[in-house]
This record gives sequence, C-alpha cells and structure tokens, in this order.
Amino acid sequence: MAERFDCVIVGTGPAGLGAAFTLQEKRPGMSLLLLDSSGTSSGGLCNDCKMNFTFPIGFPLDCWEKPEAERCLATVSAHLVPAILPKQNIAVYERRAEKLGVELLEIRQSHLGTDGGVALAHELLADLQRRGAAVSLKETATGVREKDRALLTDRREIGFGSLVVAPGRKGFAFLQQLMDALGIPYIDNIVDIGLRLETREANYPIVHDYYDPKFLFPEKVRTFCTNSGRAFVVKEKYASRDGREYFSVNGHAFSKRGKASGLVNFALLKTVRFTAPLASGQEFAEMLGLQAMLMGGGQPLMQRVGDFRLGKRSKAESFTGDLYDFEPTLASSTPGDISLAMPAKILRGIWKSMKALDTIIPGVLHPSTVMYYPEIKLYGNKPRFLDGSFQARPGIYLVGDGAGTSRGITAAWASGIRAAEGILSRQA
Ligand SMILES: Cc1cc2nc3c(=O)[nH]c(=O)nc-3n(C[C@H](O)[C@H](O)[C@H](O)COP(=O)(O)OP(=O)(O)OC[C@H]3O[C@@H](n4cnc5c(N)ncnc54)[C@H](O)[C@@H]3O)c2cc1C
Repeated sequence: MAERFDCVIVGTGPAGLGAAFTLQEKRPGMSLLLLDSSGTSSGGLCNDCKMNFTFPIGFPLDCWEKPEAERCLATVSAHLVPAILPKQNIAVYERRAEKLGVELLEIRQSHLGTDGGVALAHELLADLQRRGAAVSLKETATGVREKDRALLTDRREIGFGSLVVAPGRKGFAFLQQLMDALGIPYIDNIVDIGLRLETREANYPIVHDYYDPKFLFPEKVRTFCTNSGRAFVVKEKYASRDGREYFSVNGHAFSKRGKASGLVNFALLKTVRFTAPLASGQEFAEMLGLQAMLMGGGQPLMQRVGDFRLGKRSKAESFTGDLYDFEPTLASSTPGDISLAMPAKILRGIWKSMKALDTIIPGVLHPSTVMYYPEIKLYGNKPRFLDGSFQARPGIYLVGDGAGTSRGITAAWASGIRAAEGILSRQA
C-alpha cells in the first residue's frame, strides 16, 4: 500500500471530528486522515445545528452513564463554544405538564441554524487541517481488509493503525455491510416513528420562552427538533434495502438567511422496540415509509388537524380555504389521511400526546395545524462492542449515530472522544 496513516477516520460528522480533535490534541505527532463521501463535509452539523448540552439528550442509555457523558460534554463545549439560549416561564409549563403525567426536560441548548452549522463545520475541518490532519472529501469508504489493515475506498487502498468508522445515518447500509464482512454481531430492534406538526408561532408561543422544548409523554412519545423563526419542513430521501426510495420529513431553520415565516414545526415521535419474531426496526420503518409513498403518490402525506379531528382526509382545498390560513412549507406533500397509513398503536399514542400538549400550550391543535407523515428516525445497528471505547474489532472503532452510540451532535462528538481515548490507551 502506497499510503498508511496511524489513524483513518471515515466520516467528518461530529463523531469523526470528536475523535480527530482528541487524537490531535493528545498525540500531536500522530498521522491522521479524515475522509468523507460528501463534498461539503461534516454531516449532521449542517442540519439546523441545535446543540444539546444536557444528559441524556442524544445519549443512548445502553452505552452512556451520566458522569461519563458529562465529562465528555465539558470537552465538547470547549470546542463548540455554545451560546446557551435563555429560557423563561419554565415553571408554568412544568406545572401544567406535571398534572398530565408529562415531563418537560430543561436542557442547555444552543442554536446555530443550518447556515451557522455549515460555517462551523468548515471552520472545524480547516482547523484540523492547519494542525496537520489530511482531509479527503468526495471519497467513499467501501470496505476493510482486516488481514493487512487496509481501508478500501472508491479511489485507493489506505493502510491504517487504527480505524474509526463514523458514517452517520447516511452510512447505515455501509456500516451494516462492514459488520457483516468483519463478523461483528449487531442488533437493530428500535425505531422512532411519528409526525411533524407545523403551525403558526402564535399557536405554539412556548418557542419564545424555550427554543426547542423537550416534552416527554407517557407511552414513549416525545417532542423533538423544534424549529421557529425562519423555519421550514423538508423531506429526506432514503432507500430501502431492496433499493426502493421513500421519504422521511424533517425540520430546519436558518439563523439569519431568509424571511421569518411566522411558523413553527416540531416532531412528535414514538419509540417502538421490537422483540422476536420481528427483529429489525429498519425493516419496519422501511415498510411504513414505502406504504406512505404508495398512499401519497410518491410524496409524504399532509393533513390539517381540523380534517383529522373530523375523521376526514385532507384535500387540496384544505390548504386553500378560508379557515386554513397559512401555506404549508412542504407544499409538495400530498393531502391525505394519515390514519390510513400509520399503525393504530403509534397514532393513538401520538394523538393522546397532541391533546395533552394542547392543554399545556392551548392552541397548538388549531384546525389549521398541519400534520406531516412520516417522520422516521432510525437507530443505528448496535454492534456488540469489545470494550467501553466502542472498539468492535481489534483497532476498529464504530461510533456516532450510525453505530447507535449517539442520537445528536454533542453525543456523537462525545462518542468520538471515547474512541480516541481507547486508541490512545492501546498505544500507551
Ligand atoms: C435534517 C436533520 C436535522 C438534524 N438536526 C439536529 C440538531 O439540530 N441537533 C442535533 O443534535 N442533531 C441533529 N440531527 C442529528 C445529527 O445530525 C446527528 O446526530 C449527528 O450528525 C451524528 O453525527 P455522526 O458523526 O454520527 O454522523 P454524520 O454527522 O451523519 O456524519 C457522517 C459522515 O459520514 C459520511 N459518510 C457516510 N458513509 C460514508 C462512506 N461510506 N465513506 C465516507 N464517508 C461516509 C457522510 O457523508 C457524513 O458526512 C439532525 C439530523 C438530520 C438528518
């Protein structure tokens, strides 16, 4: 092999960056290569970039304990230098929530917006390069040859001392293939399924007091990823294992660019955990994603709350009539009937939570509120790790959202720190 590095990191998202900064700071002479299949780098930092600095947000409890997470979060904060958003009137919301058996988590959060996240990602990568790391964008890892410790990419073969694989949610399929090839056992039995709501800010004014309020409802339902100001709903394309495409909706907001829409969007997600005979959360999610595509003619579904309450499907007129007084930001969605597409148990749990939320913050279930479906959050295929630094084979570390060690930017970065510390301790 022409090239060899002490450590190669696949993926320049926060998990890859966390590993890279830790290695560079603690062992400055180490040769380091980061590679990413994308041309712009740094994965999920570029999506709205709300960063949560309070355990357990983003930390899967099967691989994190509070003291360890808090130790890592201190280092994450030192790199990401968050401007923590102020909150007010929290006691009022907490009191109302408590009466309904709902919990409002008070968390330390910052928000850069999609534009701010892109700028931060570029800055971080440039900083690593200045310190001597090699970075290769638009290069895709395709496999690993373990016997001579080589990473295979679409361009070359690269020798490595240690390998950190952090390919994020986009890299699920790659990671799965890799684990199959290397004989790493894994499980995939959890998935989050839900809706994204979009309404006028006036109907969900809590966002002026708490940018991304985290409510935990009974039946494992929670609010997730609230966007306001310059907020809009997007659709993301995913491919099932047999190559068929489906959409999951999501939300973004810009920090400065564009005009304030006066709208807010957030997800209500229910976590579903499977036991035998169904083992795969991804397979279940794919089936639901494809079913929604079938019903929406190849697009996500949208329905006004007013129609949903009356048990009626939404039609094109539901989005132009007098009562329905704002344009949905993901207007390419198909007006329809979400209750035909969503499994009953999930819908019941989410609808109950929506009613509770409307009691805590009266107005959110205004008839004009739009429900988009599906919003799907896949959990990683959780590998069986050899140790606490996410080593899955000798010298090979699997971290970040793709490997199920995180569910958010800060926890992904923290996972990278743990992998790097494992690498350094093996070489001590
Ligand atoms: C739309 C959206 C909005 C989000 N908003 C937030 C938010 O506001 N706050 C928050 O905390 N979290 C948010 N998240 C989640 C957050 O993005 C992830 O938790 C985080 O980015 C995970 O980090 P990671 O390093 O594991 O993966 P990623 O950030 O996804 O990075 C993985 C990188 O690996 C690259 N890659 C994949 N496969 C290969 C391969 N075979 N070869 C080379 N490179 C490869 C990808 O191109 C990518 O750049 C959001 C996610 C999405 C999709």
